Amino acid sequence: MMEHVTKLRCVICHGEYSPATVPYTCPACGVDGILDVEYDYAAVARAMTAPVLKQRPLSHWRYEELLPIERSLPLPPLQVGWTPVYETPRLARHIGLRSLYLKDDGRNPTASFKDRASSVGVVKAMAQSATAIACASTGNAASSLAGFSASVGLESFIFVPEMAPEPKVTQLLVFGANVFRVQGTYRVAYDLCQEACARFGWYNRNCAINPYLVEGKKTVGLEIAEQMGDLLPDWVVLSVGDGCTIAGAYKGLLEMKKIGLATRVPRMLGVQAEGARPIVDAFSSNTDLVPVETTTCADSISVGMPRNWRKAVRAVRQSGGSMVAVSDAEIRAAMLDTARLAAVFAEPAAAAAMAGLRRAVATGVVGAGESALVVITGSGLKDIKTALETTAPARLIPPSLSALEKILLGS
Ligand SMILES: *Cc1c(COP(=O)(O)O)cnc(C)c1O
Repeated sequence: MMEHVTKLRCVICHGEYSPATVPYTCPACGVDGILDVEYDYAAVARAMTAPVLKQRPLSHWRYEELLPIERSLPLPPLQVGWTPVYETPRLARHIGLRSLYLKDDGRNPTASFKDRASSVGVVKAMAQSATAIACASTGNAASSLAGFSASVGLESFIFVPEMAPEPKVTQLLVFGANVFRVQGTYRVAYDLCQEACARFGWYNRNCAINPYLVEGKKTVGLEIAEQMGDLLPDWVVLSVGDGCTIAGAYKGLLEMKKIGLATRVPRMLGVQAEGARPIVDAFSSNTDLVPVETTTCADSISVGMPRNWRKAVRAVRQSGGSMVAVSDAEIRAAMLDTARLAAVFAEPAAAAAMAGLRRAVATGVVGAGESALVVITGSGLKDIKTALETTAPARLIPPSLSALEKILLGS
């Protein structure tokens, strides 16, 4: 609740601001001055106890004290969060790990993790009586925002890179968003969206600059702590594009410890694609981020100039975690492993997290005797092109048993 928010703090200069006066980034540091939302954790701990949580709805709104929302406003009706966690012994054995869990965030309303942020975004837009909301996205944030805008009757303006996968663009069109396919990459789509928000006064849903959106993303961390309880894993694994997701997840886990609902905080493993690994490089070399040109099948994490890399690096470091990069071949293999050994169909960016864990186990970064939870951040139906390229085609046969016998019995 907004009444529990004490201040916004800049990640660079640590300046403190009141939520009432600062809409997006730090006035002193400019666009790099991303803000963190801080709460009165003592008050939250008193209000949000384990018995109280038991009575709450099974969605991420159950953590209302730790969300920057106004008490007086209605919430979107869609069920977001409280996604299932599965233990996956066969997949664990396959990668040589003692214990492995998947949290399937592809089960959110528009089939990706981004619904956690968009749901908060539309509430914030309505709190400001905005007439419209906008975002730039590699695809999932866009389709998610389009869905949540439709759920509350808000107009949306969406900027996607020209090459965004068709299923994601289709979602945008079906939900009735104003869609612009920008000629170029995510980076130029992002810049155009920033300019357009300033020009037309739309509410800006870009997680990279809007501190409240990360608060939605953090609910995955709150849920992991609550759902896992005593089984809280040693590692939480997430793929990394802009960096907001892993930073948010860590913040959620940390906050559960702060309010006494978790006894410790897992280590974070951040995974990027080899063709888009600027945050892995900044993490490994302990230097500022150098933007890159990207090439990977994992479109959702194909981010050459991540806006939230500082928060991501800080989260991984503070948690005692690590970062790895994986090849597209490893991502494709992980997509099939996750589907065939755990029956969760992950889009390439989500499978990347699984591929990263496999590599981290193989290289000893994650110990074979440890436990891990991988967040599957998006459904495989979001990008069927890569999946179809990775599997053998279905056999076309005439409708006769003898044709089938010929194939199956070789007779
Ligand atoms: C957006 C996204 C990510 C990464 O989130 P960032 O906040 O950009 O780091 C990972 N997986 C999927 C499926 C996504 O859509």
